[in-house]
Amino acid sequence: MAPDGQTLAPNVYDAEPIPEAARAEIDRLLSSGDLFRYTAPSDAPVALLEQEFAELLGARYALAVSSCSAALFLSLKALDLPAGAKVLIPAFTFAAVPSSVVHADCVPVLVEVGANYRVDMADFAAKLPEADAVMISHMRGHTSDMDAIMALCDAAGVPVIEDAAHSLGTVWGGRNIGTIGRVGCFSFQSYKLVNAGEGGIMITDDPEVAARAIIMSGAYETNWKKHPGLTNSCAHWQNKLPLYNLRMQNLSAAVIRPQLPLVAERVAKGRAGHDRVADVLNGSAHLKVPEALGPEERAPDSIQFNLMGDWTDQQAMDFQAAAKARGVSVQVFGLSEGNARAFWNWQFLVEVPELPQTRAMLMRACDVRLPTRLTEGELDYIAAAIVDAAKDVRG
Ligand SMILES: *Cc1c(COP(=O)(O)O)cnc(C)c1O
Repeated sequence: MAPDGQTLAPNVYDAEPIPEAARAEIDRLLSSGDLFRYTAPSDAPVALLEQEFAELLGARYALAVSSCSAALFLSLKALDLPAGAKVLIPAFTFAAVPSSVVHADCVPVLVEVGANYRVDMADFAAKLPEADAVMISHMRGHTSDMDAIMALCDAAGVPVIEDAAHSLGTVWGGRNIGTIGRVGCFSFQSYKLVNAGEGGIMITDDPEVAARAIIMSGAYETNWKKHPGLTNSCAHWQNKLPLYNLRMQNLSAAVIRPQLPLVAERVAKGRAGHDRVADVLNGSAHLKVPEALGPEERAPDSIQFNLMGDWTDQQAMDFQAAAKARGVSVQVFGLSEGNARAFWNWQFLVEVPELPQTRAMLMRACDVRLPTRLTEGELDYIAAAIVDAAKDVRG
């Protein structure tokens, strides 16, 4: 309790401590100075991470890199798309996603997203004929209809990359998110389920895609020999592809590896916490948390909800302020200045299209962080603050 008798609002920005086991490994690495992934003849921490992550997700190959953005970029490069290739992406995503497409010399084509934060399948089907590849961003861990997307893309022969940056632990129809498309990409940036400050990893079952990505990530000369099971493919591509040097270093892997056994528990806690808050918000006539799709088991560490009814922009901003006054930070995606998740702020695109459905969603969709470490009391505080803030503004 704060001195004035009010409960303190929970801090949703602090991370959790890194497991103690990381400390001994970091000490060992600092003593030997063995920080580069390709120095040790075998069993470098980055190589072990790749093995463990592939096993955890059920993929044949994993490649650890410097960020999820790097993984997305390398995935596009590994698909060998021609310059100017069109890549469908959801219009609701983080600016890093269209940026990775531009970085790979491709052209992002934005697809409408519905009020449930998922790809609008009618717009997707209409735009697919012009696409050379598809990058599905499971934004904030919301999974689009992967059955419908894969059926359309398989029929059209268009490869799918999954941006699973924020979806570690999400399951779709019994399959791990990130293993459904040709490539799946994950992030270890601090706001994701596994925190290494920065870092990313890509998984695939396709040996050619894996080999090309490994070479381009910076496995120069014969360093690719330290990636098991890809001798023929890597030998073929050596010296034929540019080296972008997007490798992960050993210290990052030392921070990530002891967190992998904690993923299942974090997922369970995150889902329970999210659903606890969602139940309270859905009890308000002014707020609605869209339901997950049928085959989806979510792994959330934040909550998104829509302002229901005819709110004005001013009311939505007053609502943000009323929540803030209670110590809870609510962001309406489209109303916070320069938000990197609002497509009209992606001015680096040659042409920013108009997407009325996605825009309408962004203007009334709210974002609140719910790190998986929060207690039930903290979750209840946040839920009540949000409901009361809506009541303040809408009665
Ligand atoms: C965080 C995030 C990214 C970018 O990940 P980095 O590792 O920071 O490059 C991409 N897409 C989504 C959906 C994200 O949440």
